[in-house]
Formats: sequence, C-alpha cells, structure tokens
Amino acid sequence: MLIVDAHEDIAWNTLTFGRDYTTSAYNIRTAEAASKTPDHNGSACLGRTQWIAGHVGVVFATLFVSPYRRRLGGWDRMCYRNAAEAHELAQTQLDFYHRLEEQHPEFRIIRNRADLYTVTSCWEQEIQSDKLIGLVLLMEGADPIRTPDEVEQWYERGVRIIGPAWAGTRYCGGTGDPGPLSRAGAALMEHMAACSIILDVSHMSEQSFDQALECYEGVVIASHANPRYAADLSTPERALTDNQTRKLAAREGVIGIIPYNRFLKTGWYPAEGKQAVSVRRVAEIMDYICQLTGSSQHVGIGSDFDGGFGTEGIPQPMDTVADLNMIGTSLAELGYDSDHVTQMLSGNWLAALQRGLPD
Ligand SMILES: [Zn+2]
Repeated sequence: MLIVDAHEDIAWNTLTFGRDYTTSAYNIRTAEAASKTPDHNGSACLGRTQWIAGHVGVVFATLFVSPYRRRLGGWDRMCYRNAAEAHELAQTQLDFYHRLEEQHPEFRIIRNRADLYTVTSCWEQEIQSDKLIGLVLLMEGADPIRTPDEVEQWYERGVRIIGPAWAGTRYCGGTGDPGPLSRAGAALMEHMAACSIILDVSHMSEQSFDQALECYEGVVIASHANPRYAADLSTPERALTDNQTRKLAAREGVIGIIPYNRFLKTGWYPAEGKQAVSVRRVAEIMDYICQLTGSSQHVGIGSDFDGGFGTEGIPQPMDTVADLNMIGTSLAELGYDSDHVTQMLSGNWLAALQRGLPD
C-alpha cells in the first residue's frame, strides 16, 4: 500500500548536516556515528532505501529556514536575520531539490496532476527498481517570500504548498509568537489563491489561523499538527484545538499526525525512551480526529521525521520511515477496514493534492 508523508525536512537536513538521503538511513547513522549530528537532530529515520521499503512514494518536502532569534547553536546554519537572507537560504533548498531530481531520476518533483499520476501509478506495479519518490514542495514559514507578489515566482519553480508560519513571520503569528495575520499576510493569501497554492496552517497562531481561513478560499491542510488532546505542550498553539479541527474538516482539510513522542504524551522527555509511547497511540490519535469530525477523510500522516528528533523520539517499535505502515496495522486493530486505513495512509492526502494541483 502506498503511503503519503506530508512533512519531511529533506533539504534542511541535507544542507545543515550533509545527510545523503539518496542512500539509506542506516548509512547515514554509520556516517554520523562519531559526529555531533545525532545530538542535534537524533539518529536519521529517512533514506531512499526506507522510502522504497515502506512504500512511502509521495512526500511533502519542505523549504525550511528559521529566524536567527530561534537559532539553536553554531551548527544551525539555515537561519536568517531578514527577508533577503531568508530568501537566499530557501532558494538554496529549492536548488537542492531541482539538483536532486536531475541527478537522481528516482526522485520526481510533483508539479501537477499528471506528475502525481505518474508517481502513484508506478507504485501499482510489482517491480521494485522502477519506483519513483514524488516530492511536493512545501514552504514552511513564508519569510523567504520577500513580497507577496513573489509567490508566482516560487510557484514557477515548483512550490505547491505554503505554510505562512513556523515561528511568527512577517505574514502571521506562529509557534511561540501569537499574533494576527498582517496586511502582508492577507496579500499573501490573495497571491496564493491566484495560483492555487495549497495553504498549510501548521504552526499558525489561532488568530492567524481564523483570519486565513476567512480570507483564503482554496485548499487548506495542516501538513503536520497533532490535536491538543494528544499532549499538553509548552506552546499549546502548536497543536490544534477541537474547534480548529472541525473548521478544517468543514473545509475538506486534512491533518497530518506527527508520530513524535513529545507530541503524543504529555511530559515525555528523551530519557524516558521511545518505549514510553507505542505506535498504537498514533492510531488512537488518528481515531480521535475521525470521531471528532465524524469521518475518516480528514486525517493522514505528516511524520516530520528528522525534523528536530530522530528514531530515539518516535513510538516503539518504529525505527525509520519504512515503519509508518505499522500505523495502518494499529488502525486495523482499532477496527478500521482496509479502505479506511488506505484513506488515512494515503487517500486523503492524494485527494487534497487532486483538488489543489493544476492539470
Ligand atoms: Zn514544523
């Protein structure tokens, strides 16, 4: 069964730590064994071998840069002091994806529905070697867009999803930075609507979330956001209230659940070990969204693997992205039939892409 993962910071990891995701997560772990990288970002969960083995054929791949005020240390090099720096750093990430596609044809940037079909149909064949990994480019935090009218240029270069926030940006409030949608944020929504870019509300402050939903009529998702019910966080706005979840469902939105222990169990800390949370918990949280919205059409997976945590921080017994299918097994144990499981592991994201991507 094909799996869609709606959030992976592939370029950020490659350019920050030199991770080579064209091989295997285990090669990366070996290469990093004597380095500080696992201290900063955990042991790698991503790699081509694991995407293929786990049938993770479509990935929302981010352009992610962070404001200098949130810099975590000297190693944290994808940080910006102003829009010009943000722009430059995000362009290097976009260049990286274009180079990846050129040099490794097994990776395919998904720009339209025809590309999506090419990728998904290759997963219906039996032969392993022909598998494509489709990348839908997602900008997380919109500060790299120097002015709202620049959206079209990013679109031309392949960006299909924009999340205006990570921390707060010039466009809206974000995690740890409550606040409204700015005037520039409203203009950003207009330019996004003009080229049908999908809106990712992950990380947006509640106020900005409400305003964005009000003024943006296109396709809306939360690529990676757990319900607040799943865990109490020091930044509660990082997770969705039940009310927000219902609003997203009313817009045919899809929410990507993050299998990260800190977002699944209140107070989880690394010394507790990964075994403090089971993969069953992920399925229970997905079930929670289904119960709340009365439908299995509004939830999927947005793993965020390697986005600040590694295998040490994900539920037992998952080790890499190849194990996302374990969530499907747990959903089946909760009573979901295979059609519903397929919806949650891929179908809902594919439907959102069908609505959001151009012909
Ligand atoms: Zn994020």
